[in-house]
Amino acid sequence: MPDRPRFGPAGIPQGFKETKSPTYNLPCYLQKQRLDALEYEAVRWGQKPQVNQEAAEKLGKNARDHDVWLTFHASYYVNLVGSQKIIEASKRRLIAAATAAKWMKAHTITFHPGYYSQKRSHRADLVTVIKVLRQIVEMMQSTNIKATLGLETSGRLAQLGTLEEIITICESVEQTEPVVDWAHLYARRRGNLTTHDDFRQIVEKIEERLGSKTARDLHCHFSLVEYTFRGEKRHHSLMTPGYGPRFDLLADIIVAFDLKPTIISETPLLDIDAKRMQEIVYEKLKAKSVLR
Ligand SMILES: [Zn+2]
Repeated sequence: MPDRPRFGPAGIPQGFKETKSPTYNLPCYLQKQRLDALEYEAVRWGQKPQVNQEAAEKLGKNARDHDVWLTFHASYYVNLVGSQKIIEASKRRLIAAATAAKWMKAHTITFHPGYYSQKRSHRADLVTVIKVLRQIVEMMQSTNIKATLGLETSGRLAQLGTLEEIITICESVEQTEPVVDWAHLYARRRGNLTTHDDFRQIVEKIEERLGSKTARDLHCHFSLVEYTFRGEKRHHSLMTPGYGPRFDLLADIIVAFDLKPTIISETPLLDIDAKRMQEIVYEKLKAKSVLR
């Protein structure tokens, strides 16, 4: 389990691309910057793993050797509330992700469960997601895939994935955990995430329903975000004026409650902003230990 707050990029940073080194060397590059997490992005994958097993195993080994907490982001093209045909294709996409995650020994497989159907109530769609996810977890268990499925809070109002829905799914399906994308919560709440209390209440709600370990070791995404009445529109880097949510407020909650989240930077500046977030949290931790 993460023994401290960890920080890293969602996918391959520009600076690493310029080295032209194979992706499996990325953990060494991150460790040199003292970053300690990475989410491997497989967001455009189809129904088969699009990485070869040897490269995936090397990436996983490098991550462990360089103390980088490795997670995996599955395909955007998953919809567990579509037609039967779409659901079956989505299952194959998730199993492809889970297979590669097993090669890497990645800890969490992050994904969005899907879009609300037009025909049924949100409640009925939620029941469908839970039913399908139970089948997927059964398939994972039968092939000894240990990673948890990370259900991400969604940023668009048409997407299933309010915090309440994500928690309900995690209560109902084994081998799942919530992934809190703070930018998505901010966009869905139309910016109504502005105080320490707002952040604290989210963590407390997770703690009450899913236990203190889940709340303490929370897997998170963070970026600033632009939104419309439909929700999330575009991610922005941490220093862009005029957008939220405020990272320093989350940092205060992390420090006050001794949380050990993994925070994946999904801003356009990936590792640079991951480093900024880490510095903000470390500064606050240092100030707290001086006060003691
Ligand atoms: Zn995200």
